[in-house]
Amino acid sequence: MAELHSLRLKANLLVDGVNFEPGALDEVGTLFKEQNHGLFGWDFANHKGIDLPDDFMLSDGTVTQFRFNPSSSYTMLVRDGELVVERSGETLDSVSLIPRPKYYDSVTESGAVMRQIAQIGGEDCFFVCYQNYCSHFAKGEECAFCNLVSTKKTYDSVLTRKDVNDIGEVAAAAFSEGMCEHILLTGGCFSRQKETALVADIVQSIRSALGTAAVPGTILPSATTNEDDMRRYRDTGIGALGYSMEIWDEAIYKAFCPGKAMNTSHDAFFNAIGKAVRIFGPGNVYGVFVMGLEPRKSFIEGVRTLSAIGANVVPFVWSPNPGSMLEGHRAPTAEWYVDTILEAAEIVCESGTPSGTANHCYRCDGNSLLHDALRLKGVT
Ligand code: SF4
Repeated sequence: MAELHSLRLKANLLVDGVNFEPGALDEVGTLFKEQNHGLFGWDFANHKGIDLPDDFMLSDGTVTQFRFNPSSSYTMLVRDGELVVERSGETLDSVSLIPRPKYYDSVTESGAVMRQIAQIGGEDCFFVCYQNYCSHFAKGEECAFCNLVSTKKTYDSVLTRKDVNDIGEVAAAAFSEGMCEHILLTGGCFSRQKETALVADIVQSIRSALGTAAVPGTILPSATTNEDDMRRYRDTGIGALGYSMEIWDEAIYKAFCPGKAMNTSHDAFFNAIGKAVRIFGPGNVYGVFVMGLEPRKSFIEGVRTLSAIGANVVPFVWSPNPGSMLEGHRAPTAEWYVDTILEAAEIVCESGTPSGTANHCYRCDGNSLLHDALRLKGVT
């Protein structure tokens, strides 16, 4: 049963990050799942050489991303044999780490280390970034909140490009362990034809590995308004499609995402999402946002507009992470996030758009608050 105090605590832990006491996290990387930096780094400070959790669970099952911040007033420690989060000596909640998948130490037939190909997001999501590269960085036109390149340089913990057959092999190993329910697939910038073919091949490789007709999960390719591409994606058997629109307000979007905005305008994203809803069905298309870079009013307007056309929203809580242009800035307060996401959840519920939790759920990742706010309303 989801609880409001967990939503508030999660918001605080995402906005302020968390520190830890010696001994609290010694079994991360052996018994418990460690960060492998499959895409971005979300911590406030780099921690090369120190295994830290990807995410953890609050006592009511709320999955929360671990964002290391040595200056945070929140601390994870062992108290009376139990892992807890404290602030100023007050225990706020007991927490638990997520078991480490066995396949993390396995190797594919081609010799690739499996955790360098795909990682588990949250408790149940098989996550693949098929290419850790983005051409916007070369021209200084990257999104201001993005640290993709510096994360790769700092940790170098995943393969930049992944082989299609290797991905299928890792999916078979991961799903056979019984913890995966969904997949999430994303990548960098490609030519449209190449990306469509590659994503279709990857989903088909996963589908063959699973031996199923459908693949529960979501792909996040570059946005296209080409309906043939969308149908090609749908015909792979993938359940849902998402486009990373990042920011609803058009002027702020252009300012924070200069390279991306030149390729795909606000209107092009909106058209692409609308077309995708007609092809994938209501509830099976997502607009993905970075929440906290624009005013509440425009974010809410985006949620209202997309919900009205049958799309869902995944709003990640912004982290001013190292290596991004916004490193050292501050996110809005946790109270702002809680109030705004509760309003967003109300709008989503009233819209009647199906929840889409068959393809992406609150257990898939710990850096969004919307699933948790929806759970308070009985949407699971
Ligand atoms: S499009 Fe933006 S968010 Fe995505 S990888 Fe490139 S710079 Fe980062």
